[in-house]
Amino acid sequence: MSDLYAVMGNPINHSKSPQIHSTFAEQTEQDLIYSAILVPLEKFKEEADSFFRNGRGLNVTVPFKEDAWQYADTYSSRALRAGAVNTLIKKEDGSVHADNTDGIGMVRDITVNNGCEIKGKRVLVLGAGGAVRGILEPVLEEKPREVVIANRTVSKAQALAEDFSDIGEISGCGFEQVEGQFDLIINGTSASLSGELPPVPESVIHLETTCYDMMYSAEPTVFNQWAAGLNAAATLDGLGMLVEQAAESFEKWRGVRPESKPVINSIRESLLLVKTA
Ligand code: NDP
Repeated sequence: MSDLYAVMGNPINHSKSPQIHSTFAEQTEQDLIYSAILVPLEKFKEEADSFFRNGRGLNVTVPFKEDAWQYADTYSSRALRAGAVNTLIKKEDGSVHADNTDGIGMVRDITVNNGCEIKGKRVLVLGAGGAVRGILEPVLEEKPREVVIANRTVSKAQALAEDFSDIGEISGCGFEQVEGQFDLIINGTSASLSGELPPVPESVIHLETTCYDMMYSAEPTVFNQWAAGLNAAATLDGLGMLVEQAAESFEKWRGVRPESKPVINSIRESLLLVKTA
């Protein structure tokens, strides 16, 4: 019988994870079935219990990443700090191990897929929500010179910086207080979803700046349009992060690393086809 995997969320019908993991399974000749499960709010534990009677691994998306963290028995270091997880792994002894692969997925997309080193760089992170909490440890492990977190609610940026201050040079402030130029700017706010722009000064961008919006879409995001208009060196979106976090989960479950590049390219093409249809 094929091994069972799934993604749980609410809503879930937009999820690209079944397509991504089925392609990975074909590529690596793994015998598995990966499905999408719509979980009613407040029902994560029941659904996860039911799934893990036969299932081997779960991805978890909005709004259940904190519930998944509560559900797990053991954690990777980055998952423990993140307080929210996107990957659950059923172990031989029946316990459930949790990992957060979002951050390492984004770091791989920036450094490996796009050849942009983080080491020694001045990094600005916009936003202080769950997604940003999940990326901070993998970003700091790349040894940037400094990370500044800027957020609409300043106290959240400061608290987050405090939580990660033992692993690198990191501080928090409001958007208007951001000073100087940055080599890498990561937009981890959900402002792009509503077509809004975090109000950071234009002076943060110089000609060598790489801008990364964790959101992705067929059109360049509002944030990336803004950055391109200021002549940033590169504007990247979160599609590569989505595929890389999946590749990382897949490797944790199956012990083989799938190839992410062809999957990124084929989803990008299908986004463009939908746009022009
Ligand atoms: P949260 O709801 O936890 O946090 C949202 C953050 O955005 C907060 O910092 C909030 O500020 C800020 N924000 C919201 N609206 C605005 C606005 N209009 N102007 C300025 N700041 C705003 O969301 P998540 O952290 O879970 O997700 C953030 C983004 O990351 C989403 O766009 C999501 O799609 C993306 N993401 C992408 C992934 C990928 O694989 N590519 C994976 C995970 C997330 P405040 O604290 O003041 O409310």
